[in-house]
Amino acid sequence: MGTIMTQKVESHAFQAEVQEVLSLVIHSLYKDRDIFLRELISNASDALDKLRFEALTRPELLPEGESLGVALDVNSEDRTLTIVDNGIGMNYEDLTGNLGKVASSGTRKFLEALKEGSEGPDLIGRFGVGFYSAFMVADQVTVETRKAGEETGLRWQSDGKGEYTIEEVDGLSRGTMITLHLEEPEEGQSDYTQEWTLRDIVSRYSDFVEYPVQMEVERSEPKLDEEGKEIEGETEMVTSMETLNSMKPLWGRSKSDVTEEEYAEFYRHQSHDWASPLETIHYSAEGTIEFTALLFLPSQKPMNFGDGAAPKSKVSLYVRRVLVQKECEDLLPVWLRFVQGVVETADLPLNVSRETLQSNRRVEQIQKGLVRKIMDTMGKMLKDDREKYVAFWKNFGWVIKEGLYYAPDKQKALAELCLFEGGGDYEMTTLAEYKAAMAEGQEAIYVLTGQDRATVEASAHLEGMRAKGWDVLFLTDPVDEWVLERLTEFDGTPIKRLDKGDLDLDSDEDKKDLEEKQEAAGDLLKSIQEGLSESVTEVRFSSRLAESPAVLVEAPDSMSAHQVRMMRHAGQDVPEPKRILELNPEHPLVQGLQKLHGVDANSPRIADFSGLLFDGAMMREGGVPKDPVKFQQLLTELMVASLKG
Ligand code: ADP
Ligand code: MG
Repeated sequence: MGTIMTQKVESHAFQAEVQEVLSLVIHSLYKDRDIFLRELISNASDALDKLRFEALTRPELLPEGESLGVALDVNSEDRTLTIVDNGIGMNYEDLTGNLGKVASSGTRKFLEALKEGSEGPDLIGRFGVGFYSAFMVADQVTVETRKAGEETGLRWQSDGKGEYTIEEVDGLSRGTMITLHLEEPEEGQSDYTQEWTLRDIVSRYSDFVEYPVQMEVERSEPKLDEEGKEIEGETEMVTSMETLNSMKPLWGRSKSDVTEEEYAEFYRHQSHDWASPLETIHYSAEGTIEFTALLFLPSQKPMNFGDGAAPKSKVSLYVRRVLVQKECEDLLPVWLRFVQGVVETADLPLNVSRETLQSNRRVEQIQKGLVRKIMDTMGKMLKDDREKYVAFWKNFGWVIKEGLYYAPDKQKALAELCLFEGGGDYEMTTLAEYKAAMAEGQEAIYVLTGQDRATVEASAHLEGMRAKGWDVLFLTDPVDEWVLERLTEFDGTPIKRLDKGDLDLDSDEDKKDLEEKQEAAGDLLKSIQEGLSESVTEVRFSSRLAESPAVLVEAPDSMSAHQVRMMRHAGQDVPEPKRILELNPEHPLVQGLQKLHGVDANSPRIADFSGLLFDGAMMREGGVPKDPVKFQQLLTELMVASLKG
């Protein structure tokens, strides 16, 4: 592969981060050096995918009859291992953009995660720093590559110590050839020039790669005579190309032939996750549309999941063995965007484009089938393994709940799969369990939203409920506010927000009693309302409190305080909605005010105290006083007065 002309050799410095990644990869992953081969084979397989995909629209890139694959080549004397693929290859921009830089945005996180001491080995593939793992085993790496459809071949070379060189090379065939100059293995380390070592690594990590991973192997075979008969006792060395992986796409095999470990390895390959999947769903659908699906529910939340980036599907679509779309958004609804895997069908044309997929009826049918299957699996998990389901729900429940909003036709079935905090004997409760445990006389499912469990549990709204011994579900995911707009009942039982003004909790007798008290205090309530008229529409007595003197509730058709805070957090300009101030007629403070009002209806204390009552109620729900300066002055005055007294 000599150069004919004298070519310029360019030197480049690694991006500073690469240096850091390299040293971390080399030092933190030394125990798992074997995975370098998995990474390089996986890159080769990606490159072959890319070529196959490009060739769909530019058939000249892949001459008919040419087979795609990966080859390993060992030279024991020079101690080199070469990984060759005839995939897409790289041009100058690809090389400088990908090798020598940290192209992936996840890399910062990779660095942080490694520094935090998270499990090293499996972070690698996840953050797209796989190539650099070559430097764990090699002191010199040479990449020779020519991009499909381009003329110029290039050689990239580095010892991983801060610099790399690039030069033009003639006579390269399409694809990429990576030559590792292997370090001498230390005591106890694998020797990657050994056939069985490579064989073992390939079958462990890369068996399901769809392209053949081949290697020339030497075997001693019985020597044959001129007539082709074996000669007794004589052997000769014969070399032949052998395929080291079974290549069968995992999803194409029958379920009983696949081990759990194989599923897990495939999942890790596919998802760049490091853990095993929580659930594996593997099935073939027959009927109007035929397809095979291999889906995984992850056991942990991917690191940058929910980063605000557009929700992306994690399921790849294959048509007759060809990958047509890696993250196919039309296969699953957004609220299942955490599901990983592969769907293959023969019932779509190979050249389906993104646009045609979107409106394709068959894709819709596949989606329907997948959603049903995933929901069935969740239902089973909920029934059979509560602990597992709770863990799953904590990771992805907030995503699934979006379905209650977006998929009205699934609402009923989805509501059965939801878990909520609070109430019941379990750590988390289903609506059905809540309903089954409802007390006599309780006619609704009561919920309270808030930013976190502690705030919600401290809410004055719970006092009345506690007094009655009724459970309340705590809804602390941001999505819950929207969910509650749609999910207004479960199985015929209304779902009511405790912070709304229209609870209707009391018996007729209690109501009458309350009304009487309210009438008697009518003037006081009116005067408090006038004092707070900027903030409250109404001041009234309530039976929902036990220990606290006051609480703020929403007028039935206005936004909840939590919702307002969330919208402001999202940068929206929301005016403070006016609230209803409810007072506890049994509280000594309220009774004291009544007395004072009876003696001196114009006492300035009444306005001061009702301001404090309002501020206190605000703070109780995580808000701040309207006028903090005034609040503190009043409080100070009161404390001084009480010390004097
Ligand atoms: P990742 O595979 O996660 O993107 P890697 O560090 O493994 O990260 O590889 C970096 C990039 O280098 C790849 O995304 C690809 O663009 C390029 N690359 C690596 N190996 C090859 C190859 N054999 N053929 C073509 N491109 C490759
Ligand atoms: Mg890679």
